[in-house]
Amino acid sequence: MAEPLLHTDDGHEDEARLWAELVATARRTVADGLVVGTSGNVSARIGDLVLVTPSGVPYDRLTPADITGVDLTGRQVLGTLVPTSELPMHLAVYRTTDARAVVHTHAVHATAVSTLVPELPPVHYMAGALGGPVRVAPYATYGTDELAGNMLRALAGRSGCLLQNHGTITYGATLDQAYDRTAQLEWMCRLWLTASSVPGLTPSLLTEAQLTQAGERLKGYGQRR
Ligand code: 13P
Ligand code: ZN
Repeated sequence: MAEPLLHTDDGHEDEARLWAELVATARRTVADGLVVGTSGNVSARIGDLVLVTPSGVPYDRLTPADITGVDLTGRQVLGTLVPTSELPMHLAVYRTTDARAVVHTHAVHATAVSTLVPELPPVHYMAGALGGPVRVAPYATYGTDELAGNMLRALAGRSGCLLQNHGTITYGATLDQAYDRTAQLEWMCRLWLTASSVPGLTPSLLTEAQLTQAGERLKGYGQRR
């Protein structure tokens, strides 16, 4: 008889743990300088529930009681704070990929690159970790279905893209992986801006084949589990 209650409690525990991880990730985007103030947003999926940062609330003020969740159609099923204005982008990623976490930032070098080129020139093999050369989604107003559509096209075959005159979006199997992809993307954008700003010289670029090889090799990168 006690079993259903136990399951419910376990479910709530998992949600509470994931919310704590999500808040920690959102705080990291501020601490690491990838966003300023309440810019950007973070989400994580657990079953058909998507936990999201609320709109316009400083991340250091978020408590366990502020847990905010929507279903895959965007209907609010947890909490009373208004969910992030970028729900269309987050939900579009969950509906079309196996993502478990999504991170959106306004990282400065990445945003600068988004105003200059339609694709980040492949100056480093870590582009292979994102699936290949990182595209820039054409500009559309923040929070719109149009932006989500442009983003989905730029994401084809990739786990991250730039949003023109706006920022970055990446996804992953965990919050840590999605966050790390954002940090790597911002770093690659800084690298390209640095290399391409040397007068009279042009950075060498990697071929699609070199990126594919690096991407394959990166699947075995790090410690064996
Ligand atoms: P929210 O505060 O609504 O998440 O919006 C921030 C943002 O980056 C919009 O693009
Ligand atoms: Zn934004």
